[in-house]
Amino acid sequence: MIQMQDVWKTYPNGVMAVNGITINIEKGEFVYVVGPSGAGKSTFIKMMYREEKPTKGEIYINNKALSQTKERHIPYVRRNIGVVFQDFKLLPNLTVFENVAFAMEVIEESKANIRKRVMNVLDIVRLKNKARFYPHELSGGEQQRVAIARAVVNSPSVMIADEPTGNLDPDTSWEIMHILEEINDRGTTVVMATHNRDIVNAMRKRVIAVENGRIGRDEVRGTYGYES
Ligand code: ADP
Ligand code: ADP
Repeated sequence: MIQMQDVWKTYPNGVMAVNGITINIEKGEFVYVVGPSGAGKSTFIKMMYREEKPTKGEIYINNKALSQTKERHIPYVRRNIGVVFQDFKLLPNLTVFENVAFAMEVIEESKANIRKRVMNVLDIVRLKNKARFYPHELSGGEQQRVAIARAVVNSPSVMIADEPTGNLDPDTSWEIMHILEEINDRGTTVVMATHNRDIVNAMRKRVIAVENGRIGRDEVRGTYGYES
């Protein structure tokens, strides 16, 4: 599903963020990416959804080499990957429904089909009753659930989450985790970077630890493994 073959990333300012990472993430896996601040976690996952390009090495998504993918086909690669951020990144002037529908970008789809699909995913994140609300009328946890609905509305095979619980209290963080687990149970591969030790230790999923731009640990039923 996602393979990295000796991937390196040096930023234009000379910072060496990722220094030779080789990994293989299979379809349907749930993977935590942990590590100290500045270790290279964000850079590592940004290269998966093509927000950053490797300086060296190859990334394969569904067995297709990203370096061989023409620029005009990158939007298709991206559509197959849903992304969720710590700060939600919702469009403030659109309702919950519109934020999710906007991501479908389907001109040919009938309005009825879009409506059906959007209401389906809002049901998964339990926000059908707030479809007409604006982001500022929602709690942080609700805003993150909208962002998750937007990320999965096009049925991506991979969902990437960069610190999705970073701005949320513990109870709300667990709510978000249960939704991500449900999405994973439906067959979507989930890759989540996090500093949330309690969640990682409780879930006992695969843990990839990034340290100084390299893989420090890769454990099948891993733990957070750091002091803080
Ligand atoms: P983490 O997510 O583990 O905190 P990052 O991937 O964000 O780590 O950062 C790894 C290193 O790369 C850090 O030294 C950071 O300052 C640097 N870095 C991240 N993004 C950029 C960028 N756009 N330009 C230059 N340096 C960057
Ligand atoms: P059905 O088999 O009737 O589609 P599901 O429970 O599988 O029932 O799906 C309900 C809705 O959720 C459908 O709109 C479906 O497309 C959508 N869905 C299915 N899998 C996922 C997924 N991994 N992520 C987000 N939405 C999904």
